[in-house]
Amino acid sequence: RRKVEDLAAERTRFRAAVEQARAELVEVQGEAEVKLGADQARIFEAQRMFLQDPALIDQVEARIDKEHLNAEAAIEETVEDLAALFEHMDAPILQARAADVRDVGTRLIRLLTGWRPPSLSSLTRASIIVASDLKPSDTAQLDPKQVLGLATAAGSATSHTAILARGLGLPAVVGLGETVVDLAEGTNMILDGFTGQLLVDPDLNMLSEYRVRQAESEQPRAAALAGVGEPAVTRDGHRVEVAANIGDEAGARLAVANGAEAVGLLRSEFLYLDRSTPPSEDEQEAAYTAIADALGGRPLIIRTLDIGGDKPALYLDLPEELNPFLGWRAIRFCLARPEVFKTQLRAILRAAEGRNIKVMFPMIATLDEIRQAKALLAEAGAELTAQGIPHATRIETGIMVEVPAAAVVADLLAPEVDFFSLGTNDLVQYTLAADRTNPRVASLADPFNPAVLRLVKQVIDAGHAVGKWVGMCGEMAGMPQAIPILLGLGLDEFSMTPAAIPEAKVLIRRLSFAEARDLATRVLSLRSATEMRSMKRKM
Ligand code: PEP
Ligand code: MG
Repeated sequence: RRKVEDLAAERTRFRAAVEQARAELVEVQGEAEVKLGADQARIFEAQRMFLQDPALIDQVEARIDKEHLNAEAAIEETVEDLAALFEHMDAPILQARAADVRDVGTRLIRLLTGWRPPSLSSLTRASIIVASDLKPSDTAQLDPKQVLGLATAAGSATSHTAILARGLGLPAVVGLGETVVDLAEGTNMILDGFTGQLLVDPDLNMLSEYRVRQAESEQPRAAALAGVGEPAVTRDGHRVEVAANIGDEAGARLAVANGAEAVGLLRSEFLYLDRSTPPSEDEQEAAYTAIADALGGRPLIIRTLDIGGDKPALYLDLPEELNPFLGWRAIRFCLARPEVFKTQLRAILRAAEGRNIKVMFPMIATLDEIRQAKALLAEAGAELTAQGIPHATRIETGIMVEVPAAAVVADLLAPEVDFFSLGTNDLVQYTLAADRTNPRVASLADPFNPAVLRLVKQVIDAGHAVGKWVGMCGEMAGMPQAIPILLGLGLDEFSMTPAAIPEAKVLIRRLSFAEARDLATRVLSLRSATEMRSMKRKM
């Protein structure tokens, strides 16, 4: 920090650093695309947008001009102001932007001073990285062969660092609190990603216990991976479909490698986030086509735009809401903005020509919403026909059942659709009135609550009564404790994060459908999730 006299020269230094940072970020994004896929690499595009944002650029120049500050100090102050703003926002996805803006700030200061931070890409021995928080660019540069795992003071399950670590297959324990950074370099530690614990200076007993556990956890995984090509058939011959939840083309390849038989949920909103303009029809068609082709003929369910809630997109002019999860999101937004919705529907219909693609509407609460969405789908098809553009003339159409109202009247909705997919992440939060992003009510949001299980059963039965298949794409579908119960309730399709597929298939192959049905009947007679857990322990 110092006073400068030649303000014009200082501004020029700053501008030059901005240009250089922009060029570097293009390169980092390219590398990240190869390592992590286009979707996750888009974080660096978002960082590049900060370098054009008046909130950053004009503020830094104003500090240089008014306070005669050197560029480095002006950047540091501006970045801290912006980061604090983001940290105070409600949506986790916006809070995570604080790390991005700091990342951009550090890059600029490094370019201006020639300072080289210690690099995480040149570790000499396998290590656990302990940090206050990791910048997304640091995480992307980690070498998974040298890094055993991450432990950070800040962060949440939805922060970019956690998402990137998951993509690299690294265990990460986040949100440990600031004291964690006081640990001395070279400290022995056990990082337990299963329980979210960091055990410091473990004694020999604990070390050997964990070595055994580590080996045990790797064995079934290796065995499960060996059998990923096999179908999920129970001992008594009942077959179900095991599918993947993905967000982009890299996800599609991961799904296939893990033995997915289909994609039960493509979260198409990832195409819309972290950018300044909506994706065009052609861009979407190309993305959907590439994903379907990567799946090599396996069915692909494209969920239409589920924006709003905790997933904002600035260019769509979504208003700030007091209760975003109860607000103008997903199908509600799409029906009100048919020009945005129809662009996506046209792209889906075009991609579906000659490919195994289905469409699914999120957040359906009423019959009218289904009818309106289907009318717009028909309109999109008619437009394409009139324009002579090749497209699928018939596409299987389903809905997500994630609003309790839809679950309660599933019998009325079933005749209108080709399939149901239970979205338990939202269904649980709405059924128990427990915000899925609020850690204080996390224990209430229990998918094993009898209220949720009854709704799940009701939806499956309503679908089957009119010959429609019923799947689940909420996190519950991949939980080993839930799979036997869901199987017994008659669920036809289990859609989960690709990494969970190999073990889910092994589990299903060990089960008997008849026994699972008995189990489901018994579980449905229980009065609470606590009773359910104690019953499972006794089994
Ligand atoms: C769900 O709500 O269960 C779901 C799968 O959708 P998302 O997590 O994207 O809201
Ligand atoms: Mg949902």
